[in-house]
Amino acid sequence: MKVYINGRFYREAEAKISVFDHGLLYGDGVFEGIRAYNGRVFQLKEHIDRLYASARAILLEIPMSPAEMTEAVLETCRQNRIRDGYIRLVVTRGVGTLGLNPYNCKRGSVIIIAGRIQLYPEEFYEKGLSIITVPTTRNLHNAVNPAIKSLNYLNSILAKIEAINAGCEEAVMLNAEGYVAECTGDNLFVVRDGELQTPPLSAGALRGITRRVVMDLAREQGWRVSEPNLTRYDLFTADECFLTGTAAEIVPVVKIDGRIIGNGQPGPVTRKLMELYRTLTRNSGEPIYPGRV
Ligand code: PMP
Repeated sequence: MKVYINGRFYREAEAKISVFDHGLLYGDGVFEGIRAYNGRVFQLKEHIDRLYASARAILLEIPMSPAEMTEAVLETCRQNRIRDGYIRLVVTRGVGTLGLNPYNCKRGSVIIIAGRIQLYPEEFYEKGLSIITVPTTRNLHNAVNPAIKSLNYLNSILAKIEAINAGCEEAVMLNAEGYVAECTGDNLFVVRDGELQTPPLSAGALRGITRRVVMDLAREQGWRVSEPNLTRYDLFTADECFLTGTAAEIVPVVKIDGRIIGNGQPGPVTRKLMELYRTLTRNSGEPIYPGRV
């Protein structure tokens, strides 16, 4: 594997950054997780835009333009002969001193890794997940706003640990008011009376790119989509529930806090969206090898 670091490609064993990089010392940086399907990068512009929005929110200057970043992502795919894969794009504050003052960091570090995707077991998609709400709440939007896809993922990691220790694969995080925000690395949807509902961004949900694609697909089917505040009761009494994320795609949820959702099987709306999403991802995106797709 060849890894992009600050404009150069390094073999995996040589792909290293300084221990004084504030991405490591303080989780000071932003990132994106992106997928490539069939020789194309899915929703690349949306991921690049969100990366720059996250950076803007933390006053991190990315040392290259969005157009250069786009080309660097595509070139990293080419260097690794990727047609289907997972791309991790990381921009840290860069190398600084041991103090946390970010102004001592001269230049942001840009890292792009393009490799194979570690998929969830097929069973998750066929049978659906059992998930729980956990004690760790989503960050307040006046702290590190959950809309910022920052390198500081401890909040999600703590929630994930709580879910795994309870024998579940995924955690639902509530916000400080007790409304549903999202899962540790995925957005959450419910289906009720033929309408799709997902928490509003103000509840502490990431502006998920899969979330938006799924909302668009649902509207194209003529289904209503809304973004109300959801309580645990709203989850327990939903007809269907599923999670969305770039890596996970669409995963059905069949049990929440011990309550069976719907009839305990992935529902028809979820299944239809999974099929539509699969078709869309395999047939759109930024060509990695122009002229060859
Ligand atoms: N929420 C969180 C906390 C995430 O880390 C992710 C994964 N990026 C998502 C939601 C899903 O976002 P997307 O569909 O853009 O991958």
